[in-house]
Amino acid sequence: MTGLSDARIMTGLAGIPTQVDVLVVGLGVTGAGVAVDAAARRLSVLAVDAHDVAFGTSRWSSKLVHGGLRYLASGQVGIAYESAVERGILLQRTAPHLVRPMPMLVPLTSNVSTPQAMLTAAGIEVGDLLRMVARTSAHVLPRPRRIPPQHALRWVPALRRAGLRGALLYWDGQLEDDARLVTCLARTAAAHGAVVRTRARVTAATGTCASLRDEITGSTLEVSTKAVINATGVWAGQLASDIRLRPSRGTHLVLRGEALLGLGAAFTVPVPGSASRWIFALPQSDGTIFVGLTDEAVEGDMPDVPEPTDAEIDFLLNVVSLSLEHPLRHGDVVGAFAGLRPLLDAEGHTADLSRKHAVRTSANGVVTVVGGKLTTYRRMAEDAVDATGITSSPSPTADLPLLGAAPAEELARIDGPARLVRRFGTEAPFVLAIARAVSRLPDQELLSPGPRGVTLAELIFGVSHEGAISADDLLDRRTRLGLVPADRDDALALANRALEIVGS
Ligand SMILES: Cc1cc2nc3c(=O)[nH]c(=O)nc-3n(C[C@H](O)[C@H](O)[C@H](O)COP(=O)(O)OP(=O)(O)OC[C@H]3O[C@@H](n4cnc5c(N)ncnc54)[C@H](O)[C@@H]3O)c2cc1C
Repeated sequence: MTGLSDARIMTGLAGIPTQVDVLVVGLGVTGAGVAVDAAARRLSVLAVDAHDVAFGTSRWSSKLVHGGLRYLASGQVGIAYESAVERGILLQRTAPHLVRPMPMLVPLTSNVSTPQAMLTAAGIEVGDLLRMVARTSAHVLPRPRRIPPQHALRWVPALRRAGLRGALLYWDGQLEDDARLVTCLARTAAAHGAVVRTRARVTAATGTCASLRDEITGSTLEVSTKAVINATGVWAGQLASDIRLRPSRGTHLVLRGEALLGLGAAFTVPVPGSASRWIFALPQSDGTIFVGLTDEAVEGDMPDVPEPTDAEIDFLLNVVSLSLEHPLRHGDVVGAFAGLRPLLDAEGHTADLSRKHAVRTSANGVVTVVGGKLTTYRRMAEDAVDATGITSSPSPTADLPLLGAAPAEELARIDGPARLVRRFGTEAPFVLAIARAVSRLPDQELLSPGPRGVTLAELIFGVSHEGAISADDLLDRRTRLGLVPADRDDALALANRALEIVGS
């Protein structure tokens, strides 16, 4: 397979196979990863989501592909090592078009004590050791170092100057966009032969059969299969009643770039009174900045779309402002989003629960894969497919580039619009070619930058190849304009135009 494919995500149940090797339930990062793994092992695969690709937690992450520094802080070396390995695979082999190195700063301000700074520096050094053991080149993720105050201010000009002793600088991985990774995985699975459907809900399942409902037409269908893999995140207990979760909510704020002018690196601020909790400010490639994140236990039924609370917004603003020359204000917040971590039930505050993933086979034969994190989706997928016992073929995914993947030097040589290359890698010219063919519009119109740089070309491709059937799909998952309500309003007409163009 090349880095380019006409593979498509489709909606509903029409024409799906009723007998497959593997049924994958859920198209978050975990389920989409499972679909890639199973299809790449030459199993016949049907992968479905009740809503849309990346509808659940996977679109609400911090968009970091991290080496697990925070796990080191809590002594979970195994998880940190696994994260470092998977980070290296994504950065160097499978998705260098969507995952990039990002400088991270720990400013040594007056609210970071000297012992805290020494402990953090030691942790960063161990993290670098894990990078080496995981065989991630220092050309990709440079070695950490301490920098003087004037250098720190170059990376983060908004830092409070009084008492600034310098900063610790290290590098980690950052995603272009979590929902884009999931969409890319789902199309990669389709390129390897999987049938990928959204708006298709599994209403009941055992290890060998499942009942599905088309969420658009209401029609139902039975599918027989050798294995069912439940990758439904915080909803996993609905298909496997013996799986108990204790989700926790994490909230981020969205700021415009002007709120922290000149921000060239992510930076962290310690939460007062905690030895291990930090708040991040993370610059994004579209000019916005995320500030996160909280960790609040959630009880009761899981909402489809969790909402940040006012208290979380105040908390984030207050903590990050501790390190700034001028505190942030509510008026700087142009959006906020919250996600639910699918943590397995265990004793203790949710912030301390293990982030390790689990694969469990229920009495009815359903294999559930849950927990973990976005960074380790590939390993989770491999373990889940192994657990079905239906194939002895080893997983090839550690060396399987996703659609559009290529080394940075090759991506730099692509003759195509920069925004499309950033979001589609080597597929950028293909995305544009499809948009031209479908719309017959001039490039000037297809590539004219809309809010936060979005183009009509990518929206058309979202409808033609990525299964988008509504403005919500386009604005909230194929692009992330929906993270800022004002941008969403501004882009609505463009999204509807793309839907009309492909529909006509
Ligand atoms: C705030 C926050 C920040 C995070 N930041 C990071 C980070 O920076 N880096 C990192 O590595 N990890 C991060 N994580 C963890 C990571 O985001 C999650 O572990 C991961 O996204 C979970 O993905 P999933 O596919 O298991 O679940 P989900 O993304 O929730 O996917 C489950 C899917 O199942 C579908 N579904 C549910 N029921 C059914 C059904 N009956 N039939 C069909 N489909 C169904 C849903 O529609 C949904 O799309 C973060 C988590 C949170 C909450």
